[in-house]
Amino acid sequence: MSKVEFNMENLQKCICNTCPVQAESECVKEKQKKVQEKLPEMMEKDMMPEPEMVPGLYCAQGTATCDGLDPDKMCQCNECPTWKEYNLADGEPMGYFCRDGEAR
Ligand code: SF4
Ligand code: SF4
Repeated sequence: MSKVEFNMENLQKCICNTCPVQAESECVKEKQKKVQEKLPEMMEKDMMPEPEMVPGLYCAQGTATCDGLDPDKMCQCNECPTWKEYNLADGEPMGYFCRDGEAR
């Protein structure tokens, strides 16, 4: 298993945005809104947002900086293309990267 890169390609595949674990977090909602606003311009300039701006791609960046997450809900990572591409099922932790840190 290779390290998941924090890059635009993987960010676009990430489905953390629709995950029920972070759906009720006001902090996450705020960050999602800001990133959505800035992303088109950043893509145009071939730039990548700082990890702390992005409420997702936790398999690459590690634990969430926002609070208000609810790990009693179901992690969606096993439905993400990156999960299969990087064989994340063979690594640690088994999903819930927002709570348990980056894939390794
Ligand atoms: S495996 Fe999970 S954290 Fe990683 S990109 Fe996919 S949905 Fe996001
Ligand atoms: S890492 Fe898993 S639990 Fe956390 S937000 Fe992404 S899909 Fe949901």
